[in-house]
Formats: sequence, structure tokens, C-alpha cells
Amino acid sequence: MSASDKALSSSRSVSQEQALQGFDSLSLIPELLQTLTELGYQQPTPIQQQGIPAVLEGKDIMAGAQTGSGKTAAFALPIIQKLAASLTDKLESKQATEGKSAARKPIRALVLTPTRELALQVHGSFNQYARLTQVTNALVYGGVSIEAQAKTLSEGVDILIATPGRLLDHLRRGSLTLDELELLVFDEADRMLDMGFKDEIDALVKQLPQSRQTLLFSATFDESIYELSKTLLRKPVMIEVGERNAAAVEIEQRVYAVDSDRKLELITQLISAGKLEQVLIFSRKKVAADKLAANLTKAGITSQAFHGDLSQGAREKVLQQFKLGELRVLVATDVAARGIDIVELKYVVNYELPYKAEDYVHRIGRTGRAGNKGVAITLLSREDEHLLEEVEVILDKRLPQQWLEGFEPDFSKPVETPRKGGRNAHKQRAKKRALRSSRK
Ligand code: AMP
Repeated sequence: MSASDKALSSSRSVSQEQALQGFDSLSLIPELLQTLTELGYQQPTPIQQQGIPAVLEGKDIMAGAQTGSGKTAAFALPIIQKLAASLTDKLESKQATEGKSAARKPIRALVLTPTRELALQVHGSFNQYARLTQVTNALVYGGVSIEAQAKTLSEGVDILIATPGRLLDHLRRGSLTLDELELLVFDEADRMLDMGFKDEIDALVKQLPQSRQTLLFSATFDESIYELSKTLLRKPVMIEVGERNAAAVEIEQRVYAVDSDRKLELITQLISAGKLEQVLIFSRKKVAADKLAANLTKAGITSQAFHGDLSQGAREKVLQQFKLGELRVLVATDVAARGIDIVELKYVVNYELPYKAEDYVHRIGRTGRAGNKGVAITLLSREDEHLLEEVEVILDKRLPQQWLEGFEPDFSKPVETPRKGGRNAHKQRAKKRALRSSRK
């Protein structure tokens, strides 16, 4: 057993009794309890049940939680509570020493997210949860004007939600300081490392006060996450909800074996037969996402591609249209789709399996959120069978293949070989990629 496994095996577990208790057993202030009632949250999710008391007690935490587990509230609620409690005292003492007008609220909590979408999402959650308190939050991410963000920051804010690159830009230009930071959150730390933000994280942490509380959330764990946690966390409480790297149980996973040249026909039929009301489809490449969205539109299904080539404004617009139900299909790439939170989303389709098996877990985590049942459908062509094997390894579970009537694979057809090298070469490359990212 490795040190990291040992650490996880000593993680907290929720007793039956605790699990049955509601939010009022978590020592939350009345303003938050009222907000939760208004939002219709009845029971804390397991990550909230374990995370909220630990954060309120001032502990560092390392939490393994999937998207959709309610992890945002698990850190947002106790942070708001802690800041609300000392808000008035802090500002009054600052005004006494610096004069009324000079005193501006210092940033006391920082939430780092890998993508703009997730940052927006977290910002929305803080706005919701803090609405009956005086606690304020602001958002900074790249791809939009830095000036407007600097102006907001100059007015003073309690909580900052940021992507790493843009945060460093602001620190460099002096539009913010983090000298009085008390709480630091890493949301989706695994994805931050995957996206190559390690250097930014190191540079940033050097500029933060040592005496702070740090919370690290990650959907998956590998050695690189444990390495990171060693430098960042002090005696963390380990919280693990469900199995590591396991897809949430409320997601039904179906795999339809189909020839690659018939996938478009199959997905069109599934959607237009009304079986899938609204779908988030994943493709590996931006070009393929554009092509698929165009083809579906041609077939009369309102669709848009969603990937990094779209401007920030366009991405927000497309997401809004999808949320409002004006679009039936969003065809997304892996990176772009992080942070998409659509509570009612029932269907996720893997038009192609991802090269990295862990991305499968992230993809299907977009559905089945906070207890809603979700369905994840994979269209599996024979070229991708080795990728399914990798997914099965990481889930530690077989995903039986089904054939849909009229779309049975034609085994007399030769398997399409990928452009560079044969099938084996392809398999090797996929494996290497997976290994590389787990060693990063
Ligand atoms: P998250 O995993 O933080 O992205 O949350 C997923 C979704 O679940 C969000 O839309 C939240 O508003 C919702 N949610 C979080 N906690 C609860 C809860 N205890 N009861 C009902 N819905 C929740």
C-alpha cells in the first residue's frame, strides 16, 4: 500500500446517523440555512456533510469529489460563513487605521479554477449562496479585458474566483494583493495540472501568506496530485466520496457498438426520434465538433459546437442558449466542457471515446448531477475498442456493448486504421499519453 493509499484509507466516513441529518446539523448561520431552503436543497450531499464542518473548524482538506457531487457548496458555504462572521470587525479596524475612504476590503478567500467556464459557474454559486450576507465575490479570467476586472478589484472584494494565468497578470500589474488571504481553494486540481498550470501554481503560492487554510478538490487522484498536496496542505482531513475515479452511481452507462461511418446516422436518429431531449456530445477534436454540429443542424437538430476557438463571449452565449433550451445539442471538446453545469442535463454522448480514460469520468460527470439520474451513451467503433478497455480499467467495471437494431456493426468491413501508423501504434500512443499525464 502506498503512502497515498494509506492516507485515503484513513479518510473520514459518514456514519448512518450523520447521513440522515439535514443542513441544520452543520452549524450553519440562519442566513445560509434560509438560502438553502429557498434553493430547495433538502439534504446535504456526502461531500457537504463531511466538508462543511471540517472547513468551519479551520482544517485543511483534500477532497475527492466528482463534479455534480455538490462540492461547490461544500467549500462555498463555510467560506461565506467564516468571512461573514468577521466582516464587520475587519472593516471597522481597517477604517480606524487607514481612514474611512482609504480602507478597501482585502481579498480573504481565493478560489482557483482551471477554466473560465468553471470560474463562471463557481462565481454564480457564490452569488446564490451569499445573497443574504454582506460577503462579496468577484471573478477574473483571461480572454476578456483586464481593465474592467482591475476596476472591480479596486472597489474591494472578499472572495476572488480566478483562473491561474489571469490572476498572475493582475498580481504583476498590482491590481490586487493577496497579503491578507485566509482561505485558498483549488477546484478541480487534477484538471489544473492536466492543463499545465503547475508553474503558475508554484509562482502564485510563493506570494501567499503561510498561515492560511487550504482546500483541495479533485475528481481524480494520481501521484502528481499527492505531490502538490504535500507542498500546499497542512495535516489535511482526507475526504473521499464514493470510489476514486469511479463514475457516479446514478449515471447509467450505455455503449452502442457501431461502425464509425454510421455514427452520424445513429445519433441523428436517436435525437430526432425524441429519445434524447437535450444532449451534450463530446468529440475529441475541435474540427470534428464543428463538423458534427453542422451536420446535425443540416438534419434539422439545433446544434452548436463549443470549444476553445470560440471567443469568451460566444461561449457564454452558446451556453446560455443551451441552458434556455434554444439549442438541443452542444458538441464540446473536453477542455471546453469543464465547468458546464446544467442541472437538468440527462444525456451525455461520447461520439468518440477520449484518449485519456480519466476524461471519460469527467465527461459523464456532466450528467446525473446532485442526485438527478443521468445517461451516458458511448458510440463505440472498432477502432476505439482499446480506449474502452482503458476506461474499464479505470472504472474497474465492464461496460457491456449493445447493438441497436439496424446499426449492427459490419464485421466484414476492414477496421479503419488511424493515419499515423497502425492500430497498435495508435494504442501505444494513447497509452503513452495516459501515462504521461498521470506522471506529470
Ligand atoms: P457541483 O458539484 O458543486 O457542481 O453541484 C452540482 C449541482 O447540484 C449544482 O447545480 C448545485 O446547485 C446542486 N446542489 C448542490 N448541493 C445540493 C443539495 N444539497 N441539494 C440539491 N442540489 C444541490
